[in-house]
Amino acid sequence: MKNKGIFAAVLNMIFPPRCAFCGEVILSGEKACGKCSKEIKTLNLTKRMVLPNLGKTVFCVSPFAYEYKIRVSLIQFKFYGRRDFADVYAETMAALVQKQFPEISFDFLTSVPISPKRKQGRGYNQSELLAKAISKCAFLPYNECLIKIKENREQHKLTEKERRTNVLGVYQVINKEKIAGKKILLIDDIVTTGATLSECAETLYQGGAEFVACAAVAQVPL
Ligand SMILES: [Zn+2]
Repeated sequence: MKNKGIFAAVLNMIFPPRCAFCGEVILSGEKACGKCSKEIKTLNLTKRMVLPNLGKTVFCVSPFAYEYKIRVSLIQFKFYGRRDFADVYAETMAALVQKQFPEISFDFLTSVPISPKRKQGRGYNQSELLAKAISKCAFLPYNECLIKIKENREQHKLTEKERRTNVLGVYQVINKEKIAGKKILLIDDIVTTGATLSECAETLYQGGAEFVACAAVAQVPL
């Protein structure tokens, strides 16, 4: 066994891999314990969004509903530093995207940005981690395309109507040349009303993208 192997084995003993949904110790290489794998159903949820200014329809696919164990797991992922959960969700998301958009050959993936201030506070952008993990499963490149140019209130604290106004003009394309004529898969963690994804998709279309579709880990049942 090489040093690297010994190191990994010792790490596994001190910090054994745990199920992303209940915290049970699992075998290395597994993503969830047997109980959760049986309990958590992979769904095929689709949210249809109509972009207010362009009139285009954009779809967001999600393999899970935002409830029970998925909700607990996503809160850990988003707010409590469990960056490793990105890999747990990515495989299922990549498979669903391939199933739902079989005729689209995406040029690359991108993610919903958070403000630099929030990224600094949290240490990471959870949607970017997801998009990069999916990029590995789906063999597609990842490109950072959007930046958040205004600090706004947190969407989950607002009503549906407020959410739409809250995101208006908040995002900007980094480099139009990079997205012109491209088919882009936009990634977010949770989709609720779709206001954030709609605004990002519209910004990408206005920047010259040819096609935009979205995927999120979970959809909030409204
Ligand atoms: Zn479990």
